[in-house]
Amino acid sequence: MDLFMESSVSEMERYKRQLMLEGFTPGHQALLKNSTAFVAGVGGLGGTAALYLAAAGIGKLVLVHRGDLTLSNMNRQILMREDWIGRSRVVMAKKTIGEINSGVVVDIHDRWITEPGLDELLPGVDITLSARPNFRERRILNRACIEGGVPMVEAAMDGMEAYLFNVLPGMTPCLDCVFPGDDPRWQELGFPVLGAVSGTLGCLMAIETIKILTGFGKPLVSKMLTFNLLDMRFKTLNIHRDENCSVCGGPGDRNDRAL
Ligand SMILES: [Zn+2]
Repeated sequence: MDLFMESSVSEMERYKRQLMLEGFTPGHQALLKNSTAFVAGVGGLGGTAALYLAAAGIGKLVLVHRGDLTLSNMNRQILMREDWIGRSRVVMAKKTIGEINSGVVVDIHDRWITEPGLDELLPGVDITLSARPNFRERRILNRACIEGGVPMVEAAMDGMEAYLFNVLPGMTPCLDCVFPGDDPRWQELGFPVLGAVSGTLGCLMAIETIKILTGFGKPLVSKMLTFNLLDMRFKTLNIHRDENCSVCGGPGDRNDRAL
């Protein structure tokens, strides 16, 4: 059946402004609707990405985040409301997303990425968004995505600075190729965050996710975007696979290809 015909009249109305984008067709919209994104962390970064994926009409979100809302989260976590302090963030994130777009299916898991059972959550997922504030969880997610062949949008920020790149298994560098070791100075909740910075990066994650899921536009492939919003410097750098990478390296897995 024509993908266009499968869309309801209300969906065509809801998404008509993005369907005006040159090259973005009802077919792309249908691909988005049939997609599932796994969002690791619904804080300032992942919460913003989840919000915009929901607004754009993604079919399903799997939100994974451990912990309850605190007052100090409120400068950046725009899915949250002040009177929800003390309540589970994934539960409340699901509530907000349901109010923005009731057509989006939302699965929630109030847990750490590091807990056993991550492999059971990934089957059926089309893409993951890496938005945890520590590299221990990011590396576990990176390995699970490489092993499962699931693309991952990797993005992190510190103060006014941020980076973004896509991990496309078998094609691009993975997180461990780019950052083989942890920064010993990094403290999970010890870095400054201006909400508009995490929000900007979360929006960029949502854009790359939409591009990878639908084939619309040109996502970053073996390239990393970095920016410093203190003086508005944006750069795109080439990044390279490490053939000795402990996660994605090794024989038979080095076929660098163009997307
Ligand atoms: Zn690697």
